[in-house]
Amino acid sequence: MPKQPFKEKVVVITGGASGIGLALAEKFAREGAFIALVDMDKAALEKREKQFTGRGYRAVGIACDVTCREMCESTVEKILDLFGHIDVLVNNAGITQRSLFTKTRVEVFQKVMAVNFFGALYCTKAAIDSIVKRRGMIIVNESIAGMAPLLGRTGYSASKHALHGLFTSLRCELRHTGTHVMIVCPGFIKTNLQTRALGGDGNITNVPQSRVGKQDTPESAAEIIYNGAVKRKNLLVLTVMGKIGYWVSRITPGIYERIMTKQFKSELKN
Ligand code: NAD
Repeated sequence: MPKQPFKEKVVVITGGASGIGLALAEKFAREGAFIALVDMDKAALEKREKQFTGRGYRAVGIACDVTCREMCESTVEKILDLFGHIDVLVNNAGITQRSLFTKTRVEVFQKVMAVNFFGALYCTKAAIDSIVKRRGMIIVNESIAGMAPLLGRTGYSASKHALHGLFTSLRCELRHTGTHVMIVCPGFIKTNLQTRALGGDGNITNVPQSRVGKQDTPESAAEIIYNGAVKRKNLLVLTVMGKIGYWVSRITPGIYERIMTKQFKSELKN
């Protein structure tokens, strides 16, 4: 195994201007990768691009709203023009929702699906030929809520379950090509995700988030994701509580539902 297996590999990270995506971009850049940060937050992107290039990393920031298929396609074209190919696509851009199903407008479900699911689909569709030619990798930032229920997040959980179905099936289709798909399920990581969570009316919610256990840092998540990518893992479950939740939900789904409902039910009062 080379010391820096991603040296001079082209790594594209959606939602790369903040949180886990940004920390992962920093880690890959430190390991010698060329980085394309893709995000809808233009101001943050400009700042990050300057920081990265200022440190001598080869990096570019491209503004793109992943809910727009044409923008995803033109973004991938720009990256191919700049770097020639794509080795790794990290489908990381995401938003969450915190609201009771009965109080959540259908438009909120559509928005969450548009970013979390269709954003990843559009980017993957646009980049897949190059990734396969390079025998590269797709990393999908999913969630424990992609494999188990989560109270007050019916839309978020549905979008992450949809990602899980798409990308585990795609992994099987791509296996013979030497292309890999790695699913990442973070537990609670301290980022801006929850402060931007949508409420049932589609505005940012002020309902406080319930949390179980302590939050990890994006940097420690990035370290684990990078090492998982080196080993071409199928699935990474992050944080102690994330691992406990994952295994309880696998082994005794009924008990998981009861414990999780108890932990999160204070949110239902709002
Ligand atoms: P974050 O809010 O810090 O980062 C998300 C990034 O996505 C932001 O830079 C945002 O601008 C970008 N983004 C949002 N909508 C976009 C769009 N339409 N087009 C392009 N970019 C868009 O949050 P984070 O926690 O770093 O989230 C990254 C991923 O990790 C998400 O998919 C999230 O669901 C997943 N995740 C996070 C946690 C956690 O506890 N933080 C837990 C499980 C899963």
